[in-house]
Amino acid sequence: MKVVLATGNPGKAAELERLLDGAGIEVVTQGSLGVEPAPETACTFVENALAKARHASGQTGLPAVADDSGLSVDALGGAPGVYSARYAGEDGDDEANNRRLLEELARLPEDAPRTATFHCLMVFVRHPEDPVPVIRHGAWTGRIVATPRGGNGFGYDPLFEDPESGLTGGELTAADKDRRSHRGIAMRALVADLRREFELQEG
Ligand code: IMP
Repeated sequence: MKVVLATGNPGKAAELERLLDGAGIEVVTQGSLGVEPAPETACTFVENALAKARHASGQTGLPAVADDSGLSVDALGGAPGVYSARYAGEDGDDEANNRRLLEELARLPEDAPRTATFHCLMVFVRHPEDPVPVIRHGAWTGRIVATPRGGNGFGYDPLFEDPESGLTGGELTAADKDRRSHRGIAMRALVADLRREFELQEG
């Protein structure tokens, strides 16, 4: 089976390709097929993920996998949430987003909780109008550290400390991040469903 990955985020694409590796699924990125990213206009992860997958599938004629994900910080009322990629503005990048997150937390009382959860909504559509998309959710709870640590991963990884290892997403190896992360959890569940439906090989 061949699927298109509906993401323009290189860090995320690398993780998705890694997680699908060995599942007997041939993966192409939407960028390599000339597909522009779909606009993210909804206020929930699941709606955005579905919009991305339906768009990529419609443009390519292939089944599509998409994730919409973000970081929900408890003391900030769940922000940046679905707006994680754009927290520092439409032109912001990972560094600017991380800076804003630390600035927002610095405004709070010192004893404000630093807990946060990464969410990932992973979806698969067989065709653009698929009425029964496969939808899986993964969550990873940890805490936001005061200064960034580590150069691995992407996005908020250097600020997010995993409670099991005490390492940030930026310090974890790719394999350990996949084992712990919201994306790894959601993708393993999705692949298990696809294996049942399409009788794919064991990875
Ligand atoms: P979107 O799903 O493309 O809208 O963007 C998700 C955004 O959430 C990314 O740009 C990151 O800022 C953040 N994010 C999602 N997953 C991760 C992760 O695994 N590590 C760090 N940041 C993440």
